[in-house]
Amino acid sequence: MELERALGLIAEVPDFPEPGVLFRDLSPLFADADGFRAVVDALAATVDPAVDLLAAVEARGFLLAAAVGYARGLGVVLVRKPGKLPSVAGRVDYALEYGTATLELPAGVVEPGRRAVVIDDVLATGGTVAAACELLEKAGAEVAGVSVVLELAALAGRSVLSGRTVRSLLAV
Ligand code: 5GP
Repeated sequence: MELERALGLIAEVPDFPEPGVLFRDLSPLFADADGFRAVVDALAATVDPAVDLLAAVEARGFLLAAAVGYARGLGVVLVRKPGKLPSVAGRVDYALEYGTATLELPAGVVEPGRRAVVIDDVLATGGTVAAACELLEKAGAEVAGVSVVLELAALAGRSVLSGRTVRSLLAV
């Protein structure tokens, strides 16, 4: 099956970005035309018809959400790393598997009442997606779900997101 083959293209890179971390590299999957299509189609199928906006986490989430948005006829709000946006609606600092990070939501893009799905490549500890959800909810949007390609189950991101609908194409 094409999706299975596609997910098999994800590479494991030991000791990146720090010793002891096993990094999952989706680059070979993104570069494979049929694999990329299979993953985008599968992610697109996770998005409920009542959803009216996708939220993408920088940077690999942008790639996926752009394709899913095109496939499903949905726009995309870019949840960005700090210092990229000229005008910011909200900012959240959070802990990462390795280090800390900040995400920002652009001003004037998410109106109250929007129903959004958050898209990213990998769910690890869940801090990144939780921060994106918090930003959307502070702007008055409803988070209808979270869709990712790969879930690192041992890092328990799903429990950080408890109460949310989390869909992953593959959990390892
Ligand atoms: P979390 O906040 O869930 O710990 O980490 C998820 C974020 O870090 C995602 O935006 C994801 O892109 C990145 N990330 C964490 N671990 C990995 C990994 O093993 N591979 C990739 N590609 N990204 C990762």
